[in-house]
Amino acid sequence: KTQRILVSACLLGHAVRYDGRSKPVSHQLLDRWMAEGRIVMLCPEMAAGLPVPRPPAEIEPGGLAADVLEGRARVMDSTGADVTGDFVAGADIALDLARRTGCRFALLTDGSPSCGSGTVYTGRFDGTRQDGEGVVASRLRGAGIAVFPESRIEELAEMLAGYEVAPEH
Ligand code: SF4
Repeated sequence: KTQRILVSACLLGHAVRYDGRSKPVSHQLLDRWMAEGRIVMLCPEMAAGLPVPRPPAEIEPGGLAADVLEGRARVMDSTGADVTGDFVAGADIALDLARRTGCRFALLTDGSPSCGSGTVYTGRFDGTRQDGEGVVASRLRGAGIAVFPESRIEELAEMLAGYEVAPEH
């Protein structure tokens, strides 16, 4: 069965990031998946009602995305506002959409406090990243969805191919 893939809207060229810009990835795999109708696009932060532009936000220092989802850590924006609720809402919307559309795979923008799946910023607003994931990636992975950053699009393609030739059980 042809698998669908949840993809961050900013990767597809939509200007939905905090700074009013996009983060377009140009790759023939994305073009092909688009033509095949596999792509389910979402900006979780916009879907949760956050505006464009918006202040940058980071998971507070020492907090993990899983902690945010369980109410043990917060997401703060650069003005000092607590935006945890919006980010958790975005993660819930993403999981709901993935389930409704049958996505078992996601390709999300790395570094984002929502979409990051390999790295996130430290929470100190000093421009440095550390290993970690955002709240959307954590929510999706917790539900068994395979999440990849844009730098690993080829690995995603390989996993997808393997999945589609495997016999149905
Ligand atoms: Fe892009 Fe995700 Fe941030 Fe939206 S929430 S701008 S899709 S990285």
